[in-house]
Amino acid sequence: MADPSLPPEVFTLAIPADRPLVIVDVDEVVGMFMRGFEAFIVGHGLEMRIDRFALFQNLYRPGETTHVDVGQGRRLFDAFFECDPHPMEVAPGAAAGLAALADEATIVILSNAPAACRAARGRWLAENGLPYPLVIGAGPKGPTVAALAARTEGAAAFVDDLLPNLDSVEAEAPGVHRFQSVADERLRPFAPSAPDRHPRFDSWTDLAPAIARALKLRVDGPTGG
Ligand SMILES: [Mg+2]
Repeated sequence: MADPSLPPEVFTLAIPADRPLVIVDVDEVVGMFMRGFEAFIVGHGLEMRIDRFALFQNLYRPGETTHVDVGQGRRLFDAFFECDPHPMEVAPGAAAGLAALADEATIVILSNAPAACRAARGRWLAENGLPYPLVIGAGPKGPTVAALAARTEGAAAFVDDLLPNLDSVEAEAPGVHRFQSVADERLRPFAPSAPDRHPRFDSWTDLAPAIARALKLRVDGPTGG
């Protein structure tokens, strides 16, 4: 039975039962969200200071030492996602890396972006060489990943920048290979990690071959072994 608490696409997407599956986050994995959001808030007279792994606590009025209130940050966040397409660059190597994996694996994008931006997010993906089905989720990703992985007999992998999502997948779908990746170089030093449980590859040059090795795919990139 389809669990009504999960995104309905989980049960309707074409996921061949005999192919491996790669489930990939968007922001800070295939999209340079912090850079795009930074340019957006600068356009609203604010500045971003990346001195911790946070979002709304990093937004300041120039010259001030206390971040803007979280409500204002949330409104700007929603306004960013209403932009169509999102003013955001694709992460280096993400399109080529996923295209190589897609030769043998099904690719599904799982994003916790606001549901209202589904069409804009889908267009951003298509226009940036990421023509894969989009699932919009909310909250910890483990239950959704477990339901997606259950639709194939093949091995599955999951990539996200956020430790709570990786932990959630470990708890709900322990057989799914987990990978952490943080696209923005400025964020990398602040991102909580657990590399013993979730191997971390911040560059797609390393990430795509690592996924291929875990899933035992033939395509494992120029550095694969
Ligand atoms: Mg993310």
